[in-house]
Amino acid sequence: MKYEAVIGLEVHAQLKTKQKIFCSCSTLFNKPQNQNTCPVCTGMPGVLPVLNKEAVQRGLKAALALNCKINKKSIFARKNYFYPDLPKGYQISQYNLPLAQDGYLEIESDDNIKKIRIHRLHLEEDAGKNIHCGEESRLNFNRAGVPLAEIVTEPDFRGALEAATYVRELRSILQYLDVCDGNMEEGSLRCDANISLRPKGQKEFGVKTEVKNMNSFKFIERAISYEIERQTEILEEGGRVIQETRLWDSSKGKTLPMRSKEEAHDYRYFPEPDLRPLLVDDVWIEKVKSSIPELHPEKKARFISQYGLPAYDADILTLSKDLADYFESCTKEVQDPKMVSNWMMTELLRELKDKNQSIQNCSVSWNALAELLNLVKKGTISGKVGKDVFKEMMKRGVSASSLIEEQGLKQVDDKEFLVSAIHQVLKENPKELEKYRGGQEKLFGFFVGQVMKLTKGQANPKAVNELLRAKLKE
Ligand code: ADP
Ligand code: MG
Ligand code: ZN
Repeated sequence: MKYEAVIGLEVHAQLKTKQKIFCSCSTLFNKPQNQNTCPVCTGMPGVLPVLNKEAVQRGLKAALALNCKINKKSIFARKNYFYPDLPKGYQISQYNLPLAQDGYLEIESDDNIKKIRIHRLHLEEDAGKNIHCGEESRLNFNRAGVPLAEIVTEPDFRGALEAATYVRELRSILQYLDVCDGNMEEGSLRCDANISLRPKGQKEFGVKTEVKNMNSFKFIERAISYEIERQTEILEEGGRVIQETRLWDSSKGKTLPMRSKEEAHDYRYFPEPDLRPLLVDDVWIEKVKSSIPELHPEKKARFISQYGLPAYDADILTLSKDLADYFESCTKEVQDPKMVSNWMMTELLRELKDKNQSIQNCSVSWNALAELLNLVKKGTISGKVGKDVFKEMMKRGVSASSLIEEQGLKQVDDKEFLVSAIHQVLKENPKELEKYRGGQEKLFGFFVGQVMKLTKGQANPKAVNELLRAKLKE
């Protein structure tokens, strides 16, 4: 590769408030079209915006967690453009003086920690939604006026994976802070990527393109990779990249042109005359700062040192606060972090994925899992039966002990019962027995397996091992 990619990201995060940013309409998703509207957010003449303090508080919290400098005075501005989903003819945003600037976020890249500089974080309102159906276009203003934080990085990424890692880390932080639900499918977190190439070793940046509105990690990574390839081809053929906005078409797996620089908007920003400057004082800043909890990177490091978990497990278990809390509560009861981690990483996460559930609405609570694991630990049931019990618990939301009772799954270590099972297995497999006696000792495992099968997994494997060994020595 002769070229190096330079990438900067703009992320729009919906701030988790009950009400919109400049009116008291609800922000609830999935409401009937245009139910969450009023004269303010539909741009009627003669109305005035009133700033929602909750939105500012959440923006502040995010900015502080991203190590930003807070501007004690920031200014709202009108960003003028004409589009049907924007009934006022302008969007209230922040321009010259944003709420916060000059922060950073650390990400892992090639086993190193890399600091991604945050250029700015500002507050703004979301637009409505255009719905095109056949000959008609309809408008839904439920989203108009929903509070957003726009978080803009410096052009610090050098590859698609780095950029996706940043969005993943940013989303985790915003969720930990409870300032954004991070639901990318519902559009609560969207990402624009600015991408350019330059010959390796050159300082000046090349011409960039901007890919708009991506709402999944996969798309972010794919779109950036695609754009890097596309631009490389142009440059290698001696052409020039033109500055333009492009859209990711996920069905085609391509970015497609949307508008060029010539068609770009001239937003004619000016200070919003209907809102006073936003003033934030030290007391407020300190109060918000002290409410910031332990975040993903610190929690991950603590999970490694405190519980002795591998970095990979610790990373996954701490990416969301709910999952981390689930792990810690369960571990307190079970007193075996590695066991809890193993069950969560395999059984629990797989079932959640299959059932498309999240940990918040998981039908097996942490104490239900703890009960199950303690039963496995005590040897009341085998690990294998435990896994089936877990599946059933996920399905029916019942407790492990009641399932074991109901289905008679208790592990059996009754000697007589086990010896008779062993006899039967040896009798039914004379060829294997002969081979074993002839020196093929690895067939031992085969016999254990057959006994387990015969007893439907209920035999205590430890006891089977001992009894079988004794029997074969005879
Ligand atoms: P615009 O005015 O086109 O929105 P900005 O200067 O505001 O551009 O930058 C928007 C984003 O693009 C930022 O994340 C910034 O880091 C990134 N960016 C700026 N120049 C480049 C470039 N040459 N290549 C890649 N990203 C860039
Ligand atoms: Mg831009
Ligand atoms: Zn409203």
